[in-house]
Formats: sequence, C-alpha cells, structure tokens
Amino acid sequence: MKPGGSVRGARLLPVFMKGDTMKKTLIRKYANLLVRRGVNLQKGQTLRISSDVEAADFVKLLVEEGYRAGAANVYVDWTCTEVTKQGYRHRGIRSLCDIPEWRVEKLKHESKLLPASIYVDCEDPDALRGIDQNKLRKASVAAGKKFKPIREDMENKYQWLVAAYPGKKWAKKMFPGLRASAATEKLWEAILKTCLVDDGTDALAAWDEKNKNFISRCEWLNKFNFDYLEYRSSNGTDFRCWLMPQSRWCGGGDTTLSGVYFNPNMPTEEIFTTPLAGKCEGRLVSTKPLSLRGTLVENFYIDFKEGKAAEWRAEKGEEALTNLINTDEGSRMLGELALVPVDSPINESGLLFYNTLFDENASCHVALGMGYTSCFDGFESLTQEEMHKAGVNDSIVHVDFMIGSPDLCVTGYKNGKATKIFVNGRFVK
Ligand code: ZN
Ligand code: ZN
Repeated sequence: MKPGGSVRGARLLPVFMKGDTMKKTLIRKYANLLVRRGVNLQKGQTLRISSDVEAADFVKLLVEEGYRAGAANVYVDWTCTEVTKQGYRHRGIRSLCDIPEWRVEKLKHESKLLPASIYVDCEDPDALRGIDQNKLRKASVAAGKKFKPIREDMENKYQWLVAAYPGKKWAKKMFPGLRASAATEKLWEAILKTCLVDDGTDALAAWDEKNKNFISRCEWLNKFNFDYLEYRSSNGTDFRCWLMPQSRWCGGGDTTLSGVYFNPNMPTEEIFTTPLAGKCEGRLVSTKPLSLRGTLVENFYIDFKEGKAAEWRAEKGEEALTNLINTDEGSRMLGELALVPVDSPINESGLLFYNTLFDENASCHVALGMGYTSCFDGFESLTQEEMHKAGVNDSIVHVDFMIGSPDLCVTGYKNGKATKIFVNGRFVK
C-alpha cells in the first residue's frame, strides 16, 4: 500500500471510501482505463455493466467514467452471489432449467443494440461450494441452450471486458491470515499493479505500448504457420500438439467486425491459439494448482493419446479432475495453447488468485474443452459448425491449467523444420 494514512479508519469504511485520496485517484484511473482501453467505449454507444452488488461503489465510478467517455446510456445488470446461491439451494431442477422468456428477449434486444459490456468479477472462488453439482450443470446447460444461438450471433460484433474488483471473500481466500479490510487492500494493490495502474504513469499509454508488443509478437508467430508445437521441461512435460492451417496467434486486444479495437481481459499477458482438436501426444505436467469450483487439484499430469486425455493422476483433487475430463466428448481434448513468459508480473507477484483472469496469465497453459473461433483465420465468414468441422474443439467447458516452468522450451515445426519460440520460460524474440 502506498502512503496516505491508509491504516486510519480502514475497518470502518469500504476500502476506497476512507479518505485515502491517492487510492481513490488510482481507482478512478482504473475505472477510466476499463472504459477507454478495456471496452474502448465509442461516443454515443450504450455501456452495459454486469456486477455483483458487492462492487456497487466501484460500479458507480464506472458509470460516471462511461458517461464522461460519451456513453448514450449506461445500465447495470446487478447480481448477488448470496441470492443466486439460495436459488440453487431451494429451487428444483425443473424450476432452475425453466429460463424465463423475458431473459431471452432481453438478450435478443442486446444483440441488436450491441452495448459495450463490462463484467466486474469479484466472486468468492468458493461461492458455490456445497451446491449440488448436478443441479449446477443442468441449469447451466439449459441456459446455454437458450442463449447460445443469440450469443453466437453477437460474437465478434461488440466490445466486452472481464475485469476484477476485490470482493471480501475472494480476498480472504487469497490472504487468509489477514483481516478482511487488509486482505481487500492487498488484492486491490495486486489488481491495480497487474493492470499497470499506478501513480505517475499514464495507464492508457502503458496499455497502448503493451498492445503494440502483443501485435508484433503475434505477427512474428503467425508468419511461421507451424504444423505442430513441441513442449519440453525437466518436470516431465514432453508433448506435441498439432495446429490447424487456419490457427492464428492472438493476444492482447481484439477487434470487432466493425473495426473497434478493445481488450477483453484486464490484466492479460498471454499469447494463445486454437489447436487442432484430437491431434496431440505425450505428457503435460501441471505447475500450479487448478481451482475447480472450490476444489483444488494439485500436482497432476495428463497423458494424451491420439488427441485425447487417456490417463491422469493428481496428488490432490483427482476426482474433480476426472469429472472435468469426463464432462463431454470435447472436454477430453484441447481448445487452447497459450504462451506466457515466466517473468510476467502476475507470476512475479507469487500470488495464487483462485481466478482464471489472473492465474492463466501467470504461466503457459493449455485448456481442456472449447476452442476460440476468433483464433481461426477467416472466422468472419464461417459458421461455428464449419469451424468445429475444421478442428476447433467444441465443449461446454473451457478450463485452463498451467504448465509453464522456468526451463520450459517450446519449438515450432513447419515441414520438419524446427524453430525455437520459447526457451527457458521466455520468448526468444
Ligand atoms: Zn488462456
Ligand atoms: Zn483459456
């Protein structure tokens, strides 16, 4: 925490209401960054914010920054974890799967309006602990079915962003030894730091620079059009994964079909692509714990044969890993390969966030499940089905797990010719 009398009164008021002007300035800077470089709100556009009521004070700031940036209208879809949880506990499966028509109509309306959308993520990683997994899965499948066609129709047409707010329970999970106020303070620090928001520097300019680096690195990787990548590390990782001829490396910002550049995740450090589903061989060894709905899976490996997870062991949480792998046909296959240097600020923080938005940016990872169609060259003019046929993995899950290590080497192959792209945990270029 930076100086400014932060200790006084810290227990009484929410973290940025306590008269610590420096902190307040930084948080406003952060809200401004999310609006201007996160969703890159266009003048006259509508801004939609989705948030838990816990972040209400911060959301008010976001709304203000939205109007300052020229929003025609800003509206908020409020949720409350406790209310959601009670619903899961007390409602039956039939009731949970009965998606009201007004929600479908609302999404249809939004698919025409195309508001820039900010999702404020502050959820307790253990929020749904103890809730019947079968209920959760069925309810999410039912909602997915109703919303999927509309969501697919909206894909790549509007700007969106997932960004974090330090929820109390989340902060306590990360810093169990601290009081809630001190823990949220720590988490605020980590969020602001990893999003390049600090005193004295221009966060917008910092992100412009960061995006420039992402673009040049993706161009460099895309030039090779690799047939496959090979991963090796002294921890036992020894793995080859094939790419599609259409696989493209993406990272940092994304561009809507109408040409608006935005950053869908803040923070972000990864450069990633969508592999050819069903064609990989060898062993991947995890290097960080994987948090699966309140269960930690630790020290595990997965052996892939003919593109599918064939055997796996975990020192802890093996059952949760097995459930994940057995979710559907696609959850045995990979949907993402991502490269993150070991000296990324999130890795250097040494923190485990229990939240993918951060943890996936700490380390090289792969994802079991759904592949991103936005990494498929020519996706603009293809249907989801055509891309699935070409090798983009289809699944209702997408779960990243970390395989980066200080001595990880990744080599790309094109027509048998090897090119080192990652040596000792870092890009060669
Ligand atoms: Zn990723
Ligand atoms: Zn992912």
